[in-house]
Amino acid sequence: MSNPSLLIKDLRIEDAESTSDLRIRDGRIAAIAPRLDPTDGEEIVHGAGRLALPPLIESHVHLDSALTAGQPRYNETGTLFEGIEVWGERKRELTVEDVKERAGRAIRQQAGFGIQYVRSHVDVTDPELTALRALLELREELRDTITLQLVAFPQEGILSFPDGPQLMRRAAEMGVDALGAIPHFEFTREYAVESLNLVCELAAEFDLLVDVHCDEIDDEASRGLETLATRALELGLRDRVTASHTTAMHSYNNAYVVRLMRLLTLSGINMVSNPLVNTHLQGRTDTYPKRRGVTRVKELTEAGINVSFGQDDIVDPWNPLGTGNLRDVVLNGLYVTQMMGHEQIRRSYRFITHNAARTLHLGEDYGIDVGRPASFVILDAADWQEALSWNAGLIASYREGRLIARGTPATREILF
Ligand SMILES: [Zn+2]
Repeated sequence: MSNPSLLIKDLRIEDAESTSDLRIRDGRIAAIAPRLDPTDGEEIVHGAGRLALPPLIESHVHLDSALTAGQPRYNETGTLFEGIEVWGERKRELTVEDVKERAGRAIRQQAGFGIQYVRSHVDVTDPELTALRALLELREELRDTITLQLVAFPQEGILSFPDGPQLMRRAAEMGVDALGAIPHFEFTREYAVESLNLVCELAAEFDLLVDVHCDEIDDEASRGLETLATRALELGLRDRVTASHTTAMHSYNNAYVVRLMRLLTLSGINMVSNPLVNTHLQGRTDTYPKRRGVTRVKELTEAGINVSFGQDDIVDPWNPLGTGNLRDVVLNGLYVTQMMGHEQIRRSYRFITHNAARTLHLGEDYGIDVGRPASFVILDAADWQEALSWNAGLIASYREGRLIARGTPATREILF
């Protein structure tokens, strides 16, 4: 460690009423108290009352397609399905070097916003599994600095793609962290159900997590979620399973949702919403009124079901804009789900910290507490509401006591 002992003065830790001093020793948090006096030779950093959060977590992104927008063409309709077509064309040109270079750039962008944990889906509907090989290499190279979780994602279906089941098994053997599925894209409802059964059983066999692109469509008849939750419950996978997107839930009738909520609670599964990209891609077949196309985050949260937020796409066929900054996702998510109450805003950092940590199964090492690894971020704001409103920049990102990214406080001069 470059700093055997470091004292950071005057930080607001999460939503604490007052500020604290924090001591790092040998990569761990040695003490937290309202006031700590420096020991001999200890390096001191002044936190100036700024906000400290546990490391930010990207719980849903596609690094294999990141930074490819316009290659070979732009998605002009803005639909999920044109995005899949465009990516299908770009996918033929993939090389390991190409994927590693773009994913590496995207990860460094994310690190610049305080992200230290990334769950990336990686398209395995490719007989060569090029993107997967690239991201497995990157996962190892970055291991000490950024935790990268990889989900085998069958972008073009499992039962509806040549050798789809075999490709999923190969991905499991190659060492992915989780298995995915895409039931709403399979040719038939039967294939959708079969794909979910297959993936849950494979995950149980290989002791892997599950994260399904589930019902990412405005079709109220798309009901992969009930199958996924039932398998999670019956196979005992429970909170090792995550349902991402679930945008069809926006369109389900309320009577059905009441029944579904009971099953979701029983199953213990996690949910991931990607509000920015879902508001962009969904509702595209509506005239007016136009659906928002975001899952029922407020109701799920109130029911005690774990929900986190993800960026989904960074400058690719499904999102022409974005930097990887999760603040944009939370801001949009709160507006579009109407979670604008004071307490809802105050707690909303949890969508990209604690809730996401549960989804990724980060365990007891995550969080700012004495005895835990000294991994946390300092943002240029006095509290989370201010950070959210002002798009506060990163001041410091510590990983086990080591500074892995830093910024300087923003200054503004109003010249009147
Ligand atoms: Zn996705």
